[in-house]
Amino acid sequence: MPDFNKLSEILMTVKAIQYVMLALLLISAVVLPKQLAEQGSKESSGAQVTAEAKDGAGGATGNGAGQGAGSEVGQVTGNGTGQAMGNGADLQEGCGGSQSSGSETSQTPGVGQGQVVETGDGKGTIVLDPGHGGDDPGMIGGSGINEKVLNLVYAKKLAKLLGDAGYRVVMTRTTEDGLYDADASHKKAQDMQRRVAVIAQEQPLLTVSIHQNSYQDPSVCGPQVFYYENSGEGEKLAKEIQDSLNTGLAVARPRVQKGNATYYILKRSESTTVIVECGFLSNPEEEAKLQQEDYQDQVAQAVFEGIVRYLGDTSGKDVGA
Ligand SMILES: [Zn+2]
Repeated sequence: MPDFNKLSEILMTVKAIQYVMLALLLISAVVLPKQLAEQGSKESSGAQVTAEAKDGAGGATGNGAGQGAGSEVGQVTGNGTGQAMGNGADLQEGCGGSQSSGSETSQTPGVGQGQVVETGDGKGTIVLDPGHGGDDPGMIGGSGINEKVLNLVYAKKLAKLLGDAGYRVVMTRTTEDGLYDADASHKKAQDMQRRVAVIAQEQPLLTVSIHQNSYQDPSVCGPQVFYYENSGEGEKLAKEIQDSLNTGLAVARPRVQKGNATYYILKRSESTTVIVECGFLSNPEEEAKLQQEDYQDQVAQAVFEGIVRYLGDTSGKDVGA
């Protein structure tokens, strides 16, 4: 009899353990993907969260920024785990067609802050802000390409298109260097403050900050535009550019523009400002494409068309087309 009691006790214990394990399984099935998605979202906008928050001048609460991009990338991640192959293929289709020839990226000598690169013909000033520079490479792709290099290439192409259309264009940097002094104690903070100072000084029609994105899941790809979440004009501009990119680049899984409350350049700019994330350096195919000159031209053209549409400038529509 005592033996039987012991046995049933053991059986009960085994059952209890089974229940606990089942509960753990359920929790991990429900909670973990959500956590992953949230974690991922922080990663995805990480370029800005870390870069802009790190500068210390912003008082950014990284959390909000993460959530900003969250639903977007969360969705992608969710789908990815659900039907890995199907969606993966779709995602790849969106990024695909990589022909591996990378184009040379040019470097212009000389240091510049708020440099006028296009004089225009009286249509007004646009500030272009190639993100990062100097000691801050931004995201680094698998091939070793630095975000700061690509940002400058895209900004210069966009500047040319805007200049040809009659806009005066001021760039926050025109070289590989950042905007900070070599002996500055807080280089990133000084760099960001100077970018914002250029915008304040120029009082442009609008400002476009150019970046490249990154995400832990290498299948995630495509351009995305961010605006300051309290700015109606920012949202309008972001939507025009996002739509233009989605159409112009024939993006298979189009994203929508995203509001953000913490990115320093959005928060502190005295003009309508958006951040254009041209694509993901964490996606090998997109990383290759982002370095191809014809793709760079397409991206610049799409951003340009979004800008002129926002400005209601119909004359600019045919320029460069
Ligand atoms: Zn960046």
